[in-house]
Amino acid sequence: MLPTVVLVGRPNVGKSALFNRFIKRREALVYNTPDDHVTRDIREGVAKLGDLRFVVLDSSGLETAASSGSILERTARMTENVLLKSQLAIFLIDARAGLHPFDLEVGKWLRRHTPDINLVVAMNKSESLFDNSCTLLAAGFEAQRLGFGDPVPISAETGLGMQELYWAIKPVL
Ligand code: GDP
Ligand code: MG
Repeated sequence: MLPTVVLVGRPNVGKSALFNRFIKRREALVYNTPDDHVTRDIREGVAKLGDLRFVVLDSSGLETAASSGSILERTARMTENVLLKSQLAIFLIDARAGLHPFDLEVGKWLRRHTPDINLVVAMNKSESLFDNSCTLLAAGFEAQRLGFGDPVPISAETGLGMQELYWAIKPVL
């Protein structure tokens, strides 16, 4: 059976862009997880990264909850279910925007509710930062404040950093 990787992060950090890059032209399965308030779509696909194959989940439910404001309660059920069946979470942040209070909230939530999950922080939208190693370093240092180790700078849009992401997730899968 293929290992499962879930993409988490606040809205707009590029989870869906990374999901699409991972599955390329392969089919995504969309299913609903109805709960009390909203119907949340989760996209699932088979990802290919180098010689790695894994099931990838685009946790759009997390963003629905995040945008509704009460991330701590609303994401609990959906996110926990998805995380429980995953070997790894890729926690995306936006390198250009810097750390957002929501990022810290998501991080706190993950640490409290799923302390045992393997987690890699990916600093997306880094393509413009690659030109300047100082900016890239500064963004990296800031992201370390999440407390999940060294972030991997990537660009879901251009594909930059996919090799580094590969080496970061390979030991876990
Ligand atoms: P999600 O809400 O986390 O699923 O984020 P999306 O994948 O929908 O992306 C949000 C916005 O960021 C979209 O306008 C994307 O085109 C843009 N975006 C995603 N990845 C990148 C990237 O690597 N670089 C840049 N510059 N923009 C990106
Ligand atoms: Mg999305």
